[in-house]
Amino acid sequence: AFLASFKIWKTATVGGNLCMSLPAGPMISLTTALDGLCTIWKASGGEQKLPVAEFVTGNHRNRLTPGDLLRQIDIPTAALKRRTAFRQISLAPVGRSAALLIGSLEADDALTLTVTAATVRPIQLLFRKAPDASTLRAALMQQITDDLYHADIHGAPIWRKHMTLRLAEEIRAELMGATRP
Ligand SMILES: Cc1cc2nc3c(=O)[nH]c(=O)nc-3n(C[C@H](O)[C@H](O)[C@H](O)COP(=O)(O)OP(=O)(O)OC[C@H]3O[C@@H](n4cnc5c(N)ncnc54)[C@H](O)[C@@H]3O)c2cc1C
Repeated sequence: AFLASFKIWKTATVGGNLCMSLPAGPMISLTTALDGLCTIWKASGGEQKLPVAEFVTGNHRNRLTPGDLLRQIDIPTAALKRRTAFRQISLAPVGRSAALLIGSLEADDALTLTVTAATVRPIQLLFRKAPDASTLRAALMQQITDDLYHADIHGAPIWRKHMTLRLAEEIRAELMGATRP
């Protein structure tokens, strides 16, 4: 999902991608979907811990205050054991992500859907039991209001919304199919 360049391959960091806080930041997508927990060293002293899902608050916006340092991101082992499904789309073949969705399914059928790139900040939907198609669609329509869809040269909000609904259903179908052949 990264538009590759020498910089991205050789020098860019996971923390830098989070701190840049672009909607298309793929390390934001990855660490949000894996329940990442940020540790921030505060400029004023002390430490703050908060989920990645709450760290990025908008396009180029996050919870850092001047001088703060994102020190580490912890990922719980349980998140690495979940079954996952991933979908991404760009306007151009290797273009910046216009929508990037990750679904993960617990052994007890609880589904977490992480929506990024299409929206100005990461949005997670939690379902205690894996939803059917109409429940999923209704939850997306209700929880991601139109103002949350990102608008820039990489995709119009209405298209990002359309792709979000479509890719979410693909993820649901893949994960449900995997558990219920
Ligand atoms: C050709 C090209 C393609 C790119 N494609 C993408 C793309 O597809 N998606 C995308 O999201 N971005 C993209 N970028 C933008 C950017 O390079 C990436 O987001 C990259 O991951 C940033 O990481 P970095 O480590 O280089 O951060 P930097 O550029 O070094 O830092 C970004 C900002 O965060 C601050 N910062 C960095 N690390 C920390 C830290 N640990 N604690 C506190 N503040 C910190 C810096 O001071 C700076 O303000 C692209 C850039 C180029 C040149």
